[in-house]
Amino acid sequence: MSSGTAALDVAVAALGLGEGDEVIMPTFTIVSCIQQIVRSGAAPVLVDSDPLTWNMDVSQALERLSPRTRAILVVHTYGLPVDVAPILDAAKERGIAVIEDAAEMIGQTCRGNPCGSFGDVSAFSFYPNKHVTTGEGGMVLTDDARIAQEASELRNLCFQRGRRFVHERLGWNYRMTNLQAAVGVAQLERLQENVERKRYIGRRYDELLADVPGVQLPLSSTGYAENIYWVYGLVLNDEVPFDAEQAIARLAESGVGCRPFFWPMHEQPVFRRAGMFAGERYPVAERMARRGFYVPSGLGLTDDDAERVAAALAALLR
Ligand SMILES: *Cc1c(COP(=O)(O)O)cnc(C)c1O
Repeated sequence: MSSGTAALDVAVAALGLGEGDEVIMPTFTIVSCIQQIVRSGAAPVLVDSDPLTWNMDVSQALERLSPRTRAILVVHTYGLPVDVAPILDAAKERGIAVIEDAAEMIGQTCRGNPCGSFGDVSAFSFYPNKHVTTGEGGMVLTDDARIAQEASELRNLCFQRGRRFVHERLGWNYRMTNLQAAVGVAQLERLQENVERKRYIGRRYDELLADVPGVQLPLSSTGYAENIYWVYGLVLNDEVPFDAEQAIARLAESGVGCRPFFWPMHEQPVFRRAGMFAGERYPVAERMARRGFYVPSGLGLTDDDAERVAAALAALLR
């Protein structure tokens, strides 16, 4: 696919989701996850986050199942995967689909199995900040021959074999070029090495920031996974008298470039204006959006860089 967003569009379309269908998904994610759900006429049913893993709260997701639920979209966020086991069980029992967004989890596992292997359809991104990059690019994985066929038609303008320019339905040009694919394949050789490097950077920050007050660090592991630190996120404690936006601005003055966390889907002006999610509140996600940000953690980050970042954070928070 030409991007991770394209992969998610195709995943939703290949499952045939539309009017009258509900899709359970986290509110704390990137807009790429929700666009095709909304455009198809299906209803996104949002779920709050877990305050420690920053992923979708799985028990809340299961509570939101209804007779109209057609799919659950899981998004592995920042470094730890969603614990997919209970979701896979519920989906199997009800005969509904699981869409997995593994864009940030290339090389990560959950209970020993690779992320991207859990969904009926799973999406990856190869954007420059991902663990494998093709400049822009993405991928859909499935074990289902029908979904594979649908996905390959949808990404290729639904050209038909035989009658190429006669269309029964509409698709997209979401093709990846061979040139990009070659660049991506070559990077697979170094994936494990790069993942180890990200984990090293994460551990380094854990040590450097252990005594800095006022800030929640990422969990280094859970019962089902070791953090891969796609990004190294921080959440300011409530007693800190400024928010993430101000923290990012002040760190920029010290030459440290940070990025904000996601902004929840239920608070997006584009959906608010359309009357969606009226009155819905997801307090954990709302707080993370306002108090969370992430620090530099690219593969090129040196030990000295990490120390500079940690010193700037300590100066800000002490
Ligand atoms: C990067 C990302 C995407 C979007 O991928 P693009 O290739 O930028 O379109 C989707 N989902 C998640 C979780 C991402 O991190």
